[in-house]
Amino acid sequence: MNRGEFMRADYINLVNTHIIPIEFTYHAPETIEEALKLLREYQGQAMVIAGGTDLIVDMKLRRKEPKHIISLGRIRELDYIIEEDSGIRIGAATKLRSIEKSRIVYERFEALHLAVKSIASIQVRNMGTLVGNICNASPAADSAPPLLIYEAIVTAQNLEGARKILMKDFFTGPGKTCLRNDEIVTEIFIPYPPRDSTSSFLKISRVGMDLAKVNIALLLKFNSNVVEDFRIALGAVAPTPLRILRAEEYLKHKPVNEENLRKVEEIVSEEIKPITDVRSTEWYRREVSKALVRDALNIAVNKVMRK
Ligand SMILES: Cc1cc2nc3c(=O)[nH]c(=O)nc-3n(C[C@H](O)[C@H](O)[C@H](O)COP(=O)(O)OP(=O)(O)OC[C@H]3O[C@@H](n4cnc5c(N)ncnc54)[C@H](O)[C@@H]3O)c2cc1C
Repeated sequence: MNRGEFMRADYINLVNTHIIPIEFTYHAPETIEEALKLLREYQGQAMVIAGGTDLIVDMKLRRKEPKHIISLGRIRELDYIIEEDSGIRIGAATKLRSIEKSRIVYERFEALHLAVKSIASIQVRNMGTLVGNICNASPAADSAPPLLIYEAIVTAQNLEGARKILMKDFFTGPGKTCLRNDEIVTEIFIPYPPRDSTSSFLKISRVGMDLAKVNIALLLKFNSNVVEDFRIALGAVAPTPLRILRAEEYLKHKPVNEENLRKVEEIVSEEIKPITDVRSTEWYRREVSKALVRDALNIAVNKVMRK
């Protein structure tokens, strides 16, 4: 193979060559305002980079080819986890590793803690961010099901101002969000879950360090042995991470017994729309979703009983 053939784009697309086959300009602003101005100036040609653990891979594979990269790495005002009366606020430059080690996340948002801990390796979590995880909009993003059940709110900002986006409206398709191309997500607000509720997260993947074949988060609260609050979301089973409202409605005001468990499993398998891809088959995803629903519910019930 001669050099010309070797550099052909389709060949580069087939393998991860460890090189980025396009030229781009790297910007490292120190304020949000500066970053927004750059994004406006190069609108349509620029992309934001946080940890780069998704974007750099996509650029190597020519799935994304921005001419300008705007880094959030030097914007100190975006690196925080702040506790408020009604919930916590996490800045867009906050690393996954900081969230994994956060006491408040561990104590009040167990499903999120477990999901973050399940992402890749410590090295990747030292680079990657929670906001990058959702902005990348993989249907398998591990933080998405927990953020859906906690009903998180995303703040997106452009030069004109900020807007709030409910997590349920954020994802619009595989790799797609409702963000406009002059907007940066600056933070995620996560309301505290109801008192005495419990949450859990489970994931099945090919190997430890891989995206999920299926992931699930759920929140459960009992009142006198019947379910008072139930929220359930799954990832990698549809074009976007999915909250299963029909299953939630079904289980409310009922006990968690064998009959109701089976019904919830059945509803979940009817609501999801899995596909066959490199990680799994449609059939396996549908079957394993039922097992994950059962396991996650049992874990949550046991935790409530121990409280
Ligand atoms: C080896 C490996 C293993 C992995 N394993 C997992 C896994 O198990 N589970 C999982 O869910 N993910 C996994 N990932 C994917 C990745 O690490 C996560 O999605 C990570 O959270 C991405 O964050 P980041 O800061 O690196 O995003 P980046 O790569 O910087 O950005 C990702 C996308 O989001 C956009 N973006 C980032 N921040 C903003 C912002 N503030 N506003 C607007 N747009 C923004 C970027 O433009 C880009 O399109 C893995 C990646 C690798 C390399």
